[in-house]
Amino acid sequence: MTDPAADPWLLTPGPLTTSATVKAAMLHDLGSRDRAFLERDRRIRERLVALAHAQASHVCVPIQGSGTFAVEAMLGTLVPRGGRLLVLVNGAYGRRMVAIAERQGRAVETLAWPEDRPVDPARLEARLAAEPALTHVAVVHCETTSGVLNPLPEIAAVTAERGLPLLVDAMSSFGALPIDARRTPFTALAASANKCLEAVPGVAFVLCEREALAAAGRRGDVPSLALDLADQQAAWERTGQWRFTPPIQVLLALDRALDELEAEGGPPGRLARYRENARILAEGMRALGFELLLDPAVQAPIILTFKMPADPRFVFETFYERLREQGYVIYPGKLTVAPSFRMGCIGRLGPEVMAGAVAAVRRAMASMGVVSGAPAPVREVAA
Ligand SMILES: *Cc1c(COP(=O)(O)O)cnc(C)c1O
Repeated sequence: MTDPAADPWLLTPGPLTTSATVKAAMLHDLGSRDRAFLERDRRIRERLVALAHAQASHVCVPIQGSGTFAVEAMLGTLVPRGGRLLVLVNGAYGRRMVAIAERQGRAVETLAWPEDRPVDPARLEARLAAEPALTHVAVVHCETTSGVLNPLPEIAAVTAERGLPLLVDAMSSFGALPIDARRTPFTALAASANKCLEAVPGVAFVLCEREALAAAGRRGDVPSLALDLADQQAAWERTGQWRFTPPIQVLLALDRALDELEAEGGPPGRLARYRENARILAEGMRALGFELLLDPAVQAPIILTFKMPADPRFVFETFYERLREQGYVIYPGKLTVAPSFRMGCIGRLGPEVMAGAVAAVRRAMASMGVVSGAPAPVREVAA
């Protein structure tokens, strides 16, 4: 675990708390054409594909940058110039995919839900039946805006039935929530090193079906050079090398983080810790009067959204500062449905940190004269 005396615990959607050993793995310099690096690099790509059980069908194409770079690379590489993308939207990350496709000059449509509801596969099915011109579907697995889990297997069943490519933003779920390409058919999936994989930020990646990537290469219509996944894959096949400066130290940290994931029992082991983190936080906050935004049935154990307390003495900025002074960083809400704030359960955090965060919340409330975290009585949000 990290040193709490020096660094705060990050209860946020990212960047996240990382282990001292992951950070220490970066204390090397390697040449980008050096065999020692190239072998590690190939191994990392194989390990990432294997996490989704996708070795038979997909390759992993990492890209320098934060998670959004991978999402942008995925959409730009796989949606062709004449395509028509449907984005399923129930939060800010879905809206971001729409904005990306628009910038890329691709035809894009949306199918939307309120931010506190999951995507409904039946509505997707009806839309696809009514609109045969749609060629691709994109969805966010865990919408980090609220923490709602979208039903990926059911969505994939609908797109597979129609033979449509499915593009998944699995940024905040990959490495913890189950994703199995053998049972959940997807064409591509974007994720990053610094969410559930608990490595440092600086590299993201896309798991891409080999055939779809090769087809993109043949079309040659990717609107970006740096974010052209087909071009990068072709370079690996030709030379084994990155096209542009690889984030060497970040990749070494990722390799170490994958060791630590394996030591924890892989994604199921990590999910068990995150579930326990979420349980401790939800129960502790409930005891202080706070209410979760989401129905527990659709809540992923990744990030929890709490409704803003009704007590006028509760000022979020003050609350944030009082928690920060005690060594805990939380996150403002990003919702349009209700005022809220978020506390994350992912990163190198365990039960003692979550219990410590709840105790810090209790002290922060006392210092503000707030007796209860209870929100104002519900005003039903129209669907
Ligand atoms: C974190 C996140 C991203 C990427 O955000 P970056 O700030 O670019 O790393 C994309 N989608 C989802 C669902 C996320 O949680």
